[in-house]
Amino acid sequence: MKVKTDREFLDRVQELSGQNLNECYQCGTCSAGCPFVEEMDILPDRLIRLVILGEKERVLGAKTPWICAACFTCTVRCPRGLDIAKIMEAIRQIKLRKRKEADETKIEKIEDIKHLPQAALVSNFRKQTG
Ligand code: SF4
Ligand code: SF4
Repeated sequence: MKVKTDREFLDRVQELSGQNLNECYQCGTCSAGCPFVEEMDILPDRLIRLVILGEKERVLGAKTPWICAACFTCTVRCPRGLDIAKIMEAIRQIKLRKRKEADETKIEKIEDIKHLPQAALVSNFRKQTG
């Protein structure tokens, strides 16, 4: 099946985050150290790969940027010096600017959030109301 891609999406994420995503060599260190990875639907390293591939709809439809608590664990560990937390923030900004409100991010029902770590919940409320 042919995947619809959007190269402008990569440019926008890079512009907003100030990060060169092509520096990522998919080592997986960011995902291995993320304390919230079990709650994410797409691992951080895979999400970055999808952005590079321009798969905008898959990225903007993912829970992962909203689960991310901006703890910066990945950022300090990335061997390529990428600030993954900033990349997550850029994705959230794009989604919100498209007026796709946070309640469309698949965190719709109490069943979806009741297993989330408290820090992720607090972070999510901050992101959606800030
Ligand atoms: S740690 Fe850095 S280089 Fe490794 S997969 Fe994550 S973003 Fe890419
Ligand atoms: S900043 Fe986000 S993606 Fe990175 S380790 Fe923390 S919760 Fe995971």
